[in-house]
Amino acid sequence: MIGGAEQAPRTRAERTGYLETSRHADVVAFLDSLRGRPELTFGSIGRTNEGRDIPYVIASRPRVSTPEDARRLGRPIVYVQGNIHAGEIEGKEALLSLLRDLTGSRRPNVLDSVVLIAVPNYNADGNEKFASQEVNRGSQNGPEMVGVRANAQGLDLNRDYIKAEAPETRASLAMFNAWDPHVFVDLHTTNGSYHGYALTYAPPLNPASPAGAFTRDSLLPVLRQRMRERRRFETFDYGDFISADTLSKGWVTFDSRPRFGTNYYGLRGGISILSEAYSHDPMRRRVASTYAFVSEILSLVSERAAQVMSVSQSSRQRAIPLRPSMVAARDSTPVVAEIVESTGDSTRTEPGVPRGRRRTGRFIAVRMPVFDRFSPTLWQTEPAAYIIARSDTQAVRALRHHGITVDTIARSWRATVEVFTIDSAVAAPRSFQGHREMRLEGRWAPEERTMQAGSLIVRTSQPLGILAAYLLEPQSDDGLATWNYFDATARPGAEFPVLRTLTLPPAISR
Ligand SMILES: [Zn+2]
Repeated sequence: MIGGAEQAPRTRAERTGYLETSRHADVVAFLDSLRGRPELTFGSIGRTNEGRDIPYVIASRPRVSTPEDARRLGRPIVYVQGNIHAGEIEGKEALLSLLRDLTGSRRPNVLDSVVLIAVPNYNADGNEKFASQEVNRGSQNGPEMVGVRANAQGLDLNRDYIKAEAPETRASLAMFNAWDPHVFVDLHTTNGSYHGYALTYAPPLNPASPAGAFTRDSLLPVLRQRMRERRRFETFDYGDFISADTLSKGWVTFDSRPRFGTNYYGLRGGISILSEAYSHDPMRRRVASTYAFVSEILSLVSERAAQVMSVSQSSRQRAIPLRPSMVAARDSTPVVAEIVESTGDSTRTEPGVPRGRRRTGRFIAVRMPVFDRFSPTLWQTEPAAYIIARSDTQAVRALRHHGITVDTIARSWRATVEVFTIDSAVAAPRSFQGHREMRLEGRWAPEERTMQAGSLIVRTSQPLGILAAYLLEPQSDDGLATWNYFDATARPGAEFPVLRTLTLPPAISR
């Protein structure tokens, strides 16, 4: 329904021939005009820093309005988020069009077999900070005016999933806790490399993600094939060339750390998919490829409903990979690159391309290693529980934001626990997102201790057990210690304030 005769109502992108993107008020007005359609429930996931409600829409036949309704239907719940980086506008526009096109007619479609939760304008404050694309999105081919990447606090929401400092992040964690979606899809635009794909994608990349391999090896190859055959879009693993000059060096994905939303969602045990439209495609084509990709995801999830639901609820590993490093699983795969040449002067040939450079429209396939996955370099076996002092209120509050159950040791308890002694504590030389990230080294050793009644305990047998371990382990590459929650004791010789236990105390209360 993109590009042709759109139905009413029309999005701002559609009305302007893809020259403009929706303001927050346009999003709200568009959704208001869908009210009354029998498949839809409307709500707000929470408020931004500047007080805007972040709208969500639940689409399903029959209609569901609560998580209990959704669970009773026994179908996959798919959460799709647009505009986390405002400026990367295609997710927002595609989701609005898709909500319209899937509803208001009696024809059977995916809403008969999945529950769709759509959050089209997640970074609603960033969306309103309009400036020229050249300023806000230097390597993007229009539209002329777009919002900014960060939220109103200046935080990159796609680096905030662990530390959860933004109200937007806390609102989305609350949605995850309430609805427990089987699949999370985060919609973006690439940042510049010249390749031959309308859209690139990634599964949860952290090797601790129970559904990571299933997403990578069973879902994404099918989506790639369907995007080519049914939608005429070439797609590939998200990444960038190691060297634009020597393409054959390889193609690398981004990062495995769960500060990124799709990696975070993998640690929660769910399936997640990162979608990145190609920033050098014109806006109309970027919206169309994103629309097609989300449509194909919904259709594949509905076909494989039983498998998707069992994979995303399943299997916890007993050993948690804490520090992964990137590896190439495929040697010598053809990757399509566009040849970009020098103009010999300083003219700007098109928006999103640096001065003095010109796209040629000529593509070459170069064989190179594809670095699309991570392999653990440091593992930690999962304990029965972590013990944390009641006085660590910030950390405990953070655990609760993530939906992790924190219980209380009801009676004083003497047991052999594991204590982590810090050998080295190194803060990053530069500040990132307002933090100097902390990296701890050290060792766990057994020791007999008495835990006072009232000490807090986090059991790993809960549904979010892997995530709890990743947050609480001192050597995790993206845990609470990384984000300075435990800086007070971060020095050589000190004891890390979280203990591990392989047995559970006899008396635990909520
Ligand atoms: Zn992005």
